[in-house]
Amino acid sequence: MVAEIILNSNAKDLNKVFDYNIPDNLVNNAKIGSRVFVQFGNRKELEDGFIIGIKKDSKYKLKDIINIQEEEKIDTRKIDLAKWMAKRYFCNISDCIKLMLPPGTSNKIVENRTKEKVGQFAFLVDEEKAKEDLENEKIKSRKQKELLEFLIENGENSVSDIISFTGITRDVVKTLEKKNYIQIIEKQVERNPFIHKVTKRTDKLKFTEEQKNAYDKIQESLDRKEYHEFLIDGVTGSGKTEIYLQLIEKVLNENKTSIMLVPEISLTPQTVDRFIARFGEEKIAVLHSKLSIGERFDQWNKIKNGDSKIVIGARSAIFAPIENLGIIIIDEEHDNSYKSESTPRYDAKDIAKYLGMKNNIPVVLGSATPDTKSLYNVMNGDSTLLKLTTRANNAILPEIEVVDLREELANKNKSMISKKLKEEINNNLKENKQTILFLNRRGFSTFIMCRDCGYTAKCKNCNITLTYHASENKLKCHYCGYETNAITKCPSCKSENIRYFGTGTQKLEAEIKNMFPKARTLRMDVDTVTKKNSHEKILNDFKEQKADILIGTQMVVKGHHFPNVTLVGVISADGSLNIDDYRANEITFQILTQVAGRAGRGENKGKVIIQTYNPDSFAIECVKNQNNELFYDIEMKLRKQLKYPPFCDIIIIGINSLDENKTIEVARKLHKYLKERVEKENIGIMLYKALPAPIDRIQNKYRWRILIKCKFGEDIIKLMNDTIDKSQKIKECKNGDVKISIDVNPNSML
Ligand code: ADP
Ligand code: ZN
Ligand code: ZN
Repeated sequence: MVAEIILNSNAKDLNKVFDYNIPDNLVNNAKIGSRVFVQFGNRKELEDGFIIGIKKDSKYKLKDIINIQEEEKIDTRKIDLAKWMAKRYFCNISDCIKLMLPPGTSNKIVENRTKEKVGQFAFLVDEEKAKEDLENEKIKSRKQKELLEFLIENGENSVSDIISFTGITRDVVKTLEKKNYIQIIEKQVERNPFIHKVTKRTDKLKFTEEQKNAYDKIQESLDRKEYHEFLIDGVTGSGKTEIYLQLIEKVLNENKTSIMLVPEISLTPQTVDRFIARFGEEKIAVLHSKLSIGERFDQWNKIKNGDSKIVIGARSAIFAPIENLGIIIIDEEHDNSYKSESTPRYDAKDIAKYLGMKNNIPVVLGSATPDTKSLYNVMNGDSTLLKLTTRANNAILPEIEVVDLREELANKNKSMISKKLKEEINNNLKENKQTILFLNRRGFSTFIMCRDCGYTAKCKNCNITLTYHASENKLKCHYCGYETNAITKCPSCKSENIRYFGTGTQKLEAEIKNMFPKARTLRMDVDTVTKKNSHEKILNDFKEQKADILIGTQMVVKGHHFPNVTLVGVISADGSLNIDDYRANEITFQILTQVAGRAGRGENKGKVIIQTYNPDSFAIECVKNQNNELFYDIEMKLRKQLKYPPFCDIIIIGINSLDENKTIEVARKLHKYLKERVEKENIGIMLYKALPAPIDRIQNKYRWRILIKCKFGEDIIKLMNDTIDKSQKIKECKNGDVKISIDVNPNSML
């Protein structure tokens, strides 16, 4: 018998299926999903991998499998899922299997992953430098390479975890510390992600009529034991979470398990608390990227052993090793973090549907601002819409007012805060109520420009405008991490007339402090939340009313519950309206509705002030009138007219290389291949010609692309996989000089 094996390695040349002979003494243990050890090439050390297929024989003379470790088997259904994903997301099976393995399996398995109470932690001094030196092969030792790769992938970790998960020795850690790649500090080891207080148990609430109706519909589907998709479209605070809690309770009572997905950024202890308060800590496992590898490992095992019946997690938690699934719930389903933007480029909602169908269970999506795609499914009868129109605890929806910034300017107010907003903040401070100020910075950041010649500072690797960070007085690239000192003189014309454009959170905070010297402020943006738990701490401090005003970007938007917040100010709604993306209106509508929903969630009515230069935009108009139906109605008509998703799918074939000519060459060849296929076989797609991407260089790699509009389905999957096969016949792709990626409905069109 012959086993088809996927090696558990990050090395590109091993990303294939290899055949190995199953020796007689191992035949009984060799099953699909079994973990095996094999000898590969002329490497001394054994490689490990998984059996993904078994067949009678092979034409070739094969090496024997050396050993099989039965206990570490992965579920055959997971292998099926990985195969399905590889085909659908145009990637290797091994890339998909990696998502389903216990944390740390990509490194050598070592016994005794013990816990330690106080210990040493290691982290990278400069991740970019480490990446660069790895890429340029400046590090020769295989062990040192492994350690750096581990830290790049997993971030800061305790030294003992690093040693047990990678199998390297303490000496290697010390060597890299000496070489100044990593730094080691002493601190408390904590492998319990529930690092907050003990929570009081809560009982279920009596449903409102709308909640009951929604719950009943889903319950019927649960009882029928069939797959069905539901979309709960409920205004902020309408009690969606309470419905999820009671659905999970029902599933739990039937001895089944649940997966509940939440956007990464709103997966805070606050969110998890509500579930712990209802079901107790033992039954719940939490999975997200901020956990250390040790924590992830513990949570993973808690699920695998069957101790946790409820998994709460970000995107990749959909691959949790849970048995006997009863329901999948995806909260804030419009959030774009459910779609992966790196290989494999999967959409967790697709995976949820796949699992829903395989397990005959319902998939419940919930949002106050649904994804147009989910509404489209409702229109087509593939999903059932359940509406919640009022807030559950009788809180009234906030009053929304729009301030026209053009008039402010005409009235000589050059501050970021309009007269009206200033008044309201003042009133709120007097009444000891809290305020959130939101800066819509999407597609909008602080950059510098020469007023005389128009020069703007760009990244030397990415051809992207650098963002100015006032705290360090540096210019940084958000794509590759390149940074340089801020300039005072134009490098192009030598003028000193350099201006800082854009309005950052720091500038806003300074202005607020100036305007309201007594007000206590908190700021939340990418600069202040990079450390583990800092995001948490800011939210908790604000919840405990240690500050009057919270200033922030997108991060403050996600489903937090602050009962004392009665005023929300949107400094400028326009940032997301002007982005170069067909979703600009949808994104603006969603962000503004979500941020407005933060106001008045307690007993006091909330007020929202939206400042904008585009008061006539229908997205802003609909937010103001809290008219979701009208918004989606207009937006859907526009999308249909202009042939944009959800009425079609957009596929982007990316062609990247360090060499511009090779990039163009491959792009043209692939386009020619596609054009011929489309014409010959009369395939109904819109194929656009190969062009440079809007950001035509990132990290020194030239980026070209071919855009396709189509209806995604089996014939397109075949065409795309054929295109990949075709590319592998082109010399520049085969030798790795040019890389191809295929993304269906990507989050970013850049
Ligand atoms: P959503 O998830 O839709 O934003 P939540 O479930 O967070 O809404 O509910 C908002 C608030 O209303 C919470 O404080 C919650 O405890 C409360 N709530 C939800 N359902 C009910 C109910 N049936 N009766 C009373 N209060 C409720
Ligand atoms: Zn200049
Ligand atoms: Zn860059």
